[in-house]
Amino acid sequence: MDTASTSRVRQTDWTKCCLCQQNKPEELQSPQMNPIKSENDGYTNLARNIPPFNAINALPIKFDPARFDAGSGIETTLRENRAKYHHSCRLLLSNTKLKRAEKRLVQEDLVSKDEGRRSKIPRKAQTSILQCFLCEGEGGGLRQAMTMKVNERINECARILSDGKLLAKLSGGDVVAQELKYHAPCLVALYNQERDFLRAQEREQAQHDCQEAHPNAFSELVTYINEIKVTSSNDNPPIFKLTELTKLYGQRLQQLGIESPDVHATHLKDQLLYHIPQPRAHHQGRDILLAFEKDVGSILA
Ligand SMILES: [Zn+2]
Ligand SMILES: [Zn+2]
Repeated sequence: MDTASTSRVRQTDWTKCCLCQQNKPEELQSPQMNPIKSENDGYTNLARNIPPFNAINALPIKFDPARFDAGSGIETTLRENRAKYHHSCRLLLSNTKLKRAEKRLVQEDLVSKDEGRRSKIPRKAQTSILQCFLCEGEGGGLRQAMTMKVNERINECARILSDGKLLAKLSGGDVVAQELKYHAPCLVALYNQERDFLRAQEREQAQHDCQEAHPNAFSELVTYINEIKVTSSNDNPPIFKLTELTKLYGQRLQQLGIESPDVHATHLKDQLLYHIPQPRAHHQGRDILLAFEKDVGSILA
């Protein structure tokens, strides 16, 4: 045995608590004092728990475990020396205390691993992370994307706007996992850009619907007039007031999605006169009557 280890390994005073080696008012115990002998007594338990406590550097009482082992193992050494201990000292080395110490170690390990992972991010990557992923500007109150809701909205905007650059950034994973930072005004600008785009799309669609609505409504009106002409008898010849036709046409345009149709009666009359065979327009007071040629005589007679 070299001098270094000799000085480190203190001799155990077996007349005292083998664990704390101190004089306390507490009574000393020993499994040998217990009249009921058990195979797994206090010595067995201490022999089993001291090495793992020491292995994880969590011995609750400062001692060198080597002094419990004269060469034949801890349990034998304790038994041969009729070791005694304070009940409170033995409890510090109980199975429960060992489990807790091991659990603490695992948690600390997780934390330090996490810190290790963070600190391993290269300096260049760290600076790029401190950029707004939208304008790529640095500083100026950067926020971190924290929720999956924000992630979904940003992805939606990128898709709708077909923003290739943004889509490429988002392809690296969700914004939360990527720890992407942004300026609040930049995110608002993105949302506004999406809204303006959708509005323009809506306007285009409405314009298209509008262009379709006029010919559709007009052809329906012509069909309506022709049907009445076919079904009506000669005794009751069809007669159409332009004001009523204009109203009908306007209502149909509204049904087809045009909010406040601007229908010019004169323009409608000219169109009808052009499309309906044999109609003639006649003025009757302030109103204009549309009638088919062969009926004009009887109506106006
Ligand atoms: Zn003690
Ligand atoms: Zn920005």
